[in-house]
Amino acid sequence: MKFQFRATQARSDVLAQDWMDWRWQLRKSPKNLKELLNFLPLSEAEITGLVNSTELFSFRVTPYYLSLIIPHDPEDPLRRIALPRADELCKATQSFFDPLGEIKNSPVNRIIHRYSDRVLFLITDFCSVYCRYCTRKHFTGQEQAFPQRNEYEQALDYIRNHPGICEVILSGGDPLTLSNAQLEKVLSDLRAIEHIEIIRIGSRMPVVCPMRIDQELVAVLKKYKPIYLMTHFNHPREVTLEASQALELLADSGVPMMNQMVLLNGVNNHAAIVQALCRRLLYLRVKPYYLFQCDPSQGTDYLRTPIEQGEQIMREMWGHLSGLAMPVFSVDIPNGGGKTTLAPNFETARGPGYRTYLGWDGVSCDYIDPNPDQLLPPSDYALYEVEWNLIKNAKKIKNSSVNLSVDPAANLD
Ligand code: SF4
Repeated sequence: MKFQFRATQARSDVLAQDWMDWRWQLRKSPKNLKELLNFLPLSEAEITGLVNSTELFSFRVTPYYLSLIIPHDPEDPLRRIALPRADELCKATQSFFDPLGEIKNSPVNRIIHRYSDRVLFLITDFCSVYCRYCTRKHFTGQEQAFPQRNEYEQALDYIRNHPGICEVILSGGDPLTLSNAQLEKVLSDLRAIEHIEIIRIGSRMPVVCPMRIDQELVAVLKKYKPIYLMTHFNHPREVTLEASQALELLADSGVPMMNQMVLLNGVNNHAAIVQALCRRLLYLRVKPYYLFQCDPSQGTDYLRTPIEQGEQIMREMWGHLSGLAMPVFSVDIPNGGGKTTLAPNFETARGPGYRTYLGWDGVSCDYIDPNPDQLLPPSDYALYEVEWNLIKNAKKIKNSSVNLSVDPAANLD
């Protein structure tokens, strides 16, 4: 089936060319109760939320994203994503200021070095929509925007001085809210570092302001390839005609894309919704990558779901949805414990040399291990151990003579 994607409608008092101008979208985004009331009728709970919870976390939403909300449905999933409500102020069963433990894993401002081979570089704290479930409320939306020159240089120096870092994830905030000139500066500085192989950009702009994706932007992304774009669609209604055109342009320009969705109460916590989003994204050449359990950041209790519900959704989709369309269900262990994946468990028994499984549609069988005496390591593994040790110790090793771009097998002939 080929999908039909719906176009959004600008209000009658808005010129079509303004509607498709991402800077106009940012300029016209409501940021408070008074401005929002020009767009939508609000419930009492939303008014309370807007008046009181913005101290906890900023509010902003693009007119484009507002146009996706069904005005007469108080529980519209997209409304729950974007509009504060009184529930944000309620007592939580668990609540962290910094659920991913990013502050303690930040060796210098703007850099988070949690996993060995990669760092997050927070190049702005600004987003065009402040998602109510955001896990980085300790940083995002605090008017810090692009780093000061000394902060920026310090962050780059940290990356330069740690040769085991081979991947930089541009995050924030939303990096695609920066101008192309700012973005190009960051990308060119990173590409000048010999050991950086992969750059990722995490952005919700294709979802909340797809007009940001234009020929000029993709020219910049192509110039500094390989750049992976991590999109952040949460619901199939976010995949509009405009969003689909943005994704097509990126895919046609050779930008690989992967989607990270967050499982949210009353938004997408049903297998029918998850599969609908994943299939549409796959069709548009975006690989559904993660289905994240919502982190217990402040004010998110009403949006969180029990882990068991996510496991049930994964189990329901297993065997019915192409492996290409299946995301990996993952929870970040609160307080900075790192990610753990939560795949359905089909194992029913195990013992020395065997495991027993009952598959998704009822087939049961043992998997018997081969004779362990025949196991041997690959004859050339030692060639790659030097780089592997550098990566595993990336946080500790400051300078190294190992050059990751040299092929260790080059002199084997
Ligand atoms: S776009 Fe990302 S960083 Fe910004 S508010 Fe949403 S989840 Fe948080």
